[in-house]
Amino acid sequence: MSLQKIVLLGSTGSIGTSTLQCVRRFPEKFTIAGLAANRNVALLIKQIDEFRPQMVFIGDPDGVKKIKDRFGDTVTVLTGPDGLESLVRDTGYDVLLNALVGAVGLRSTVTALQLKKRVALANKESLVVGGDYITSLLDSGNGSLIPVDSEHSAILQCLAGVKDSTIESMILTASGGPFRNRQQHEFASITPEDALNHPTWSMGKKITIDSATLMNKGFEIIEAHHLFRLPYSQLRVWIHPQSIIHSLVEFHDGAILAQLGLPDMELPIQYALSYPERLPMPGKRLSLPQIQKLDFYDPDPDRFPCLRLCIEAGTAGGTAPVVVNAANEIAVGAFLNKQIGFNDIPAMVSFALERHTVRKADSLETIIEVDSEVRRSVLNNYLSRR
Ligand code: MG
Repeated sequence: MSLQKIVLLGSTGSIGTSTLQCVRRFPEKFTIAGLAANRNVALLIKQIDEFRPQMVFIGDPDGVKKIKDRFGDTVTVLTGPDGLESLVRDTGYDVLLNALVGAVGLRSTVTALQLKKRVALANKESLVVGGDYITSLLDSGNGSLIPVDSEHSAILQCLAGVKDSTIESMILTASGGPFRNRQQHEFASITPEDALNHPTWSMGKKITIDSATLMNKGFEIIEAHHLFRLPYSQLRVWIHPQSIIHSLVEFHDGAILAQLGLPDMELPIQYALSYPERLPMPGKRLSLPQIQKLDFYDPDPDRFPCLRLCIEAGTAGGTAPVVVNAANEIAVGAFLNKQIGFNDIPAMVSFALERHTVRKADSLETIIEVDSEVRRSVLNNYLSRR
């Protein structure tokens, strides 16, 4: 494979730093053309020093001067609302690795696809809110999309050499998060500190809360629906606390293929960057005799209503998933700020969904309009209803 120039959005987060670890491992295969970070100026400066990108974006406007003082004109520094867009549009590159958090990542995914780039997608919200629109872009020959999410990477790995017509279902596994064994009556007293303590994966705050509510798994169902073009009736979730089987594909002869590995995001990231090639990876190997036992069970719809909300919204289609995502982002923020309780997260999402009249989500403008309307009003409306 030839040298791949990468623009990495979210470079100082958990996916971002793991991506740079893969780049570091294969300097003859990957190089960094652009980096984007939100607030962590100190780490971004270290990354610029090591990877020497042409362009960077920093969300914190105070960071611009610090970066310029250090690197002068050797790197173009962008900030502000159009800065990110300009990084994605004007940097020369082959692959956009989008590890932004939230619906804010959609515009970058769309721009890169329109430029016919490969998008390695860790920002699942792009597909949750913009799935129909992105699908139409891909169908009209714009770029390609490779999942970074471990479940979807697992499915992609199981699909090598497979005919679409032989697929009966896809099963996404879920660790179940920190509350999989907690009784329903205890859910109301869950604190942000409890919810941020994930048993198997170390991730950013937003996705950790989404994992605790299973909203993350609901989003992943919507993501799988768009990525693999399978109806919701053929997508399932199994709780699997050890996070060793990353997902499974069931075929029409009853065979099931699964991808297994230690829970480490470097493999799905590296696979997305080198796809369809598979590159070596040093480090620990999975030993099933050491693990001895893998558990599975069905998710509990009463304790984890977010899963059902996502499937309902996905099935309704159009702007419904946009509402779920926006209400969830606001709810998670309010929960972390201790303005609402843990149970209010699904309650607020359900509240927003009930009040919304679903429309087609076939343009970026419609998606952004619905997204901002929900963000603006949902918390106040929800709180004043009580
Ligand atoms: Mg995942």
